[in-house]
Amino acid sequence: MPLVSMRQLLDEAAKGGYGVGAFNVNDMEQIQAIMAAAKETKSPVIVQASRGARQFAEDLYLFRLIQAAAELNPEIPIAMHQDHGNSYETCKSAIELGYTSVMMDGSLKEDGKTPSTFEENVAVTRKVVEYAHARGVTVEGEIGVLGGVEDGHGAGGTGLEHITDPDQAVEFAERTGVDALAIAIGTSHGAYKFTKKPDGSVLKMDVLIAIHKRLPQTHLVMHGSSSVPKDLQDIINQYGGKLKQTWGVPVEEIQLGIRNGVRKINVDTDNRLAITGAIRKVFAETPEKFDPRDYLKPAREAMKKVVAQRMTQFGQAGHAGDYKPIPITEIAKGYANGTLDTRPSLSAAR
Ligand SMILES: [Zn+2]
Repeated sequence: MPLVSMRQLLDEAAKGGYGVGAFNVNDMEQIQAIMAAAKETKSPVIVQASRGARQFAEDLYLFRLIQAAAELNPEIPIAMHQDHGNSYETCKSAIELGYTSVMMDGSLKEDGKTPSTFEENVAVTRKVVEYAHARGVTVEGEIGVLGGVEDGHGAGGTGLEHITDPDQAVEFAERTGVDALAIAIGTSHGAYKFTKKPDGSVLKMDVLIAIHKRLPQTHLVMHGSSSVPKDLQDIINQYGGKLKQTWGVPVEEIQLGIRNGVRKINVDTDNRLAITGAIRKVFAETPEKFDPRDYLKPAREAMKKVVAQRMTQFGQAGHAGDYKPIPITEIAKGYANGTLDTRPSLSAAR
């Protein structure tokens, strides 16, 4: 199966009332772990690469691995997504490689650290939408600023400093025409999200619900949404790691989001924790081993388990065979003739 438009994947998820996990990859084992989980649970899937991942793996290695995943798993719809593009050029280069979706994170300036103005965000995101939609490629934008830093990307801080304003979200969707929108509701990138189990004072699910009511056609995206389960933290610390105790986004909050328009859920930290815990365990228990396969195999298996669990929790499990992929060229026609237009003023007129 060729790579699928992320828009189609998310439209189908909206119809089915479920969410789709977007899992970050840097290497072959992570891609294999995701595909094994998708196969086992019969899930459509979003695979995503950050700028850091594209640099680490070199663009072509990573993209060819994704193509291999698509060829080896013809029954699984896969969208390949650029996570946190920092500029028009980054998004364009991903589209030229063959990515079927890009995130233009214009909430930050090109340095990936400094919050930008609303007008700057609209301008760069609109430019990416025009280029991408002409080629049938999906665009995710971001309004409001997430907390924390991951892969050198992020403004830092707690995540409560730049919560998305629903009025601005509506104006942003209208002026850019993005397919999907990442909103800031208090979550942060990285392992250290919350210092206690989050409640409504730090995780603003009410803001999410308000935005979905006003933007029913725009798929909402939750970033920084690893659950950071205690058992994964414990394995790392049991075998010599030094993680401070931390809390992520509880799965039931994500499920509440899914009932209110969240269609894409980004998960990276949980997989990193699973891999590291499994490798530490092998090193600690069998220090005589030195074949990388001896620890990469259990690491891959540990990540697969986490991914399969999330796929079941998000509801995407069982939906891989629900639909036939629409070629990207057909999707481009849908953008050109307006049938895929998500702008709130148009959907109100519909
Ligand atoms: Zn993110």
